Amino acid sequence: MNPLPRLTDLSRAEFQAWAEKQGERPFRGDQIWRWLHGRGTMDPDAMSDLPPGVRAKLKEAFVWQSPPLRWSIDEGSTTEKLFTQIEGTDGVESVLIMEGDRTTACISSQLGCPVACRFCASGLLGLKRNLSSGEIVEQFHEIRRRAQSLGRRVSNIVVMGMGEPLLNYQAVVEALDVINHKEGGGIGARHLVISTVGLKKGIERLVQDKRQFTLAFSLHAPTDALRQELIPFPGALSIQELIDAAKLYLEVKGREVTFEYVLLDGVNAGPKEASELVRVLRGVRGTINLIPYNENPGLPFKRPSPESVDRFTDQLRRGGLRVSVRKRKGHKILAACGQLRLQATHGGPISAPSSSV
Ligand code: SF4
Repeated sequence: MNPLPRLTDLSRAEFQAWAEKQGERPFRGDQIWRWLHGRGTMDPDAMSDLPPGVRAKLKEAFVWQSPPLRWSIDEGSTTEKLFTQIEGTDGVESVLIMEGDRTTACISSQLGCPVACRFCASGLLGLKRNLSSGEIVEQFHEIRRRAQSLGRRVSNIVVMGMGEPLLNYQAVVEALDVINHKEGGGIGARHLVISTVGLKKGIERLVQDKRQFTLAFSLHAPTDALRQELIPFPGALSIQELIDAAKLYLEVKGREVTFEYVLLDGVNAGPKEASELVRVLRGVRGTINLIPYNENPGLPFKRPSPESVDRFTDQLRRGGLRVSVRKRKGHKILAACGQLRLQATHGGPISAPSSSV
């Protein structure tokens, strides 16, 4: 076990306190924090406005090495997958998605996931552990670095990778604070999305929290019976409770909630389910985001045909719902929604060519 603290786990105030302890003014702590999170610098020697003595102390006091990482890049694709080998674990996966002007980082909050949605690779092996706030932020750092090398700026963050973010609440909101801070990641709170199956305590905390993050609920079924089959997690709210929570979030925060709905052929994507969904969501403000399933080796679910997806979408729209349909991205490198982790944990290649960027 490494006795030195992980650098990215320290808050700005803790850096200020560290600087004072070294006989320095607190603003030295601010400078370090800005280098770290504003620019993603992991080398004290590059922190050119710090006196050499402070840089030397920094080197001794903290772990500076980033964990080994690999990029999985499907040439010509607009989606790339990052695999970070965190010590003593199977590693964590995150995704860079480039679409028009929009550059999104999909990041993970846990190693594995205890929710075990039937269709999701991340849930297959259960939960290994929570990620620290630093481990979450470092995914953003790496994705930002990669995006910059491609001439892009990360505009959106979705905490929709491995894990249930509300089960790791404190670390997730601390990480998003860093990504949101104008001297850190500089991404507006409304562009930071927390996606959850709906956990009572976590949602209550978010509602009471002054932060203005965007919230997405994983719905995936029009009835509680089917939803419980697909999301067999005892703590998940019922559909009516999710709708009530969405209304409350809108009332308190002025933010509409998005309902995520993965389309599984022969399971939840037929006309009967569409009409049930219209009945359930009629009058609820918010968008329903349809995600045609990305098939996983080892899991039995199938993606509906494009015609079935169109029919389902039309039926919802005719029923008065606001609908978006997620484009297919990253499936070739298993970087699409619900596909993270399976290859890594099964020891297969994360795929292709490039190493760290
Ligand atoms: S879909 Fe999300 S909540 Fe469900 S098992 Fe996968 S990572 Fe966990």
